[in-house]
Amino acid sequence: MEHVILGIDVGGTNVKGALVDTRNGDLLSERITLPTNPNTPEGISKQLAQIVKQLNWKGAIGCGFPSVIKSGLVLTAANIHPDWIGVNARDLFRKETGCKVYVVNDADAAGMAEMTLGAGKTQRRGSVLMLTIGTGIGSALFNSGHLVANTELGHLHFKDSLDVEQVLSGSAITRNQLDLKVWANSFNEFLSYLNLILRPDLFILGGGVCSSFDTFKDCLSVEVPVVKAQFNNDAGIIGAAMFADYRGKTI
Ligand code: BGC
Repeated sequence: MEHVILGIDVGGTNVKGALVDTRNGDLLSERITLPTNPNTPEGISKQLAQIVKQLNWKGAIGCGFPSVIKSGLVLTAANIHPDWIGVNARDLFRKETGCKVYVVNDADAAGMAEMTLGAGKTQRRGSVLMLTIGTGIGSALFNSGHLVANTELGHLHFKDSLDVEQVLSGSAITRNQLDLKVWANSFNEFLSYLNLILRPDLFILGGGVCSSFDTFKDCLSVEVPVVKAQFNNDAGIIGAAMFADYRGKTI
């Protein structure tokens, strides 16, 4: 079945994977979750291999990865081991799993799922900015439906911080025991800043923190519509599978 692909979402905390029907985003297997530990090249490739083994999978794999990715090459390592820098994740995962693997930035993957089948699917004009709020802050920018890859807006300098994800990510909420509404007011300031520099027509918020979207959405007064990711925290798995589907057909 050509449209079934194993989608894997490597995060700073967990590695999650499931078989995905890329035509509609349905998950066709259980969702396997393993801790991203150790988070070295060897550790994460073993976690991928374990998911492949558990699902007895031999087909293509799409993998979202929390770093700048160019042709499989890992260029940054904010929430993973620094040994990753300069490693070709695609080649390493192909060797470890024996499967065809396609690697993409994790937020870009989540954005692709939302733009194709989810909260952004009707927004083909103008620009859309998806932000994932979890261990880090990921970003995926779309202009007229086209992805501008590897934007990494979670590392912008914002107010007193040299790296906005250090103060506004999901891990910052936990680490600093922030009240969700207090956090949301600061996050709203960040959205207003992003609006000032990029003027998107829609913000889509995803990642673990968005399971509480209804609790904090009233604090988001930025003058641009803000919606929750339709696929919630599965957007990364689904988008990674869609990316592999697309690349497999175009390369
Ligand atoms: C990484 C991004 C990633 C984001 C979410 C950031 O620390 O630099 O590449 O998309 O975390 O995982």
